[in-house]
Amino acid sequence: MINAAFKPIGLIGHPVSHSLSPLMHNSALKACDLNMCYMAFDVPPQHLHASVQGMIALGFVGFNVTIPHKENILPFLDEVDLGARAMGAVNTVVIRDGKTKGYNTDGGGFLASLRDRGIEARGEILVFGAGGAARAVAVAMALEGVQRVTIANRSLENAREISRIVEDLGVKSHAVSLEGGDLKEKLKMANIVVNATPVGMSPRENAPPVFDTAYLKTSAVVCDLVYRPRDTTLLRAARSRGCTTIGGLGMLLYQGAQAFELFTDLKPPIEIMREALAVGL
Ligand code: NAP
Repeated sequence: MINAAFKPIGLIGHPVSHSLSPLMHNSALKACDLNMCYMAFDVPPQHLHASVQGMIALGFVGFNVTIPHKENILPFLDEVDLGARAMGAVNTVVIRDGKTKGYNTDGGGFLASLRDRGIEARGEILVFGAGGAARAVAVAMALEGVQRVTIANRSLENAREISRIVEDLGVKSHAVSLEGGDLKEKLKMANIVVNATPVGMSPRENAPPVFDTAYLKTSAVVCDLVYRPRDTTLLRAARSRGCTTIGGLGMLLYQGAQAFELFTDLKPPIEIMREALAVGL
């Protein structure tokens, strides 16, 4: 029961009605017996700054940030941590003593989803796509000290932008186009391949993968950030080649778990959060 002492946590986005975060976080807050509540707010871009000021004024513990505010929120925060600054995007804001600090748990969530399967981010990495998710994953792996991150994308210019960010972090990086001849060589070398495009996402779940899986090393780990459906055309094709495959649900779970820890300073109840997501999907 919500009483006068409860502490709110927010989610701002536009739209937000599809989000699974309220279900996941409220299940976790209840399991930990915390007098807190997680609520989603549809905030149009012109009200972004006012919504941040409002949450500070109302004593929110913090809030999550989703599309389209992840980049635009940076100027409204008092502090932004190193990883989030490199990614140029924030998905979690903690409010302490009226001051805001921004984090990005998307990349850390991805790494945790690998570790959950006993895989460390090492060697040659190939990321398809050059949007927000690709940037978070590429920066997180660069900060882990992988050997090289290649970005393959439809628009070469967008891929080059992420490559420059990765190189600034001291890790070798290349940008290649989806049609380029270099792509086959990169696929043959890659230890970890990540689909960070929406290709294969419901309702167009029968769309063919963005690359030819016949060039994958059989020892490669293939990750699809798409989580609707949980098992994608890409994951099935990669498995039939003998590769280890990881879907997008783990990243969704662990980005939420890391945000929960930042909000509450408690270890997140992972299995409760995993079950809540399974119910919501
Ligand atoms: P985004 O910012 O819109 O970027 C999408 C990227 O995919 C762009 O680089 C775009 O290429 C490329 N792309 C789009 N349609 C394509 C097509 N038909 N063929 C080839 N490339 C295409 O999206 P995002 O936020 O990065 O999200 C990407 C995917 O990751 C989505 O499926 C999303 O659901 C998923 N995601 C999952 C999690 C998770 O927790 N599992 C978290 C975040 C995102 P151009 O640059 O050429 O336009």
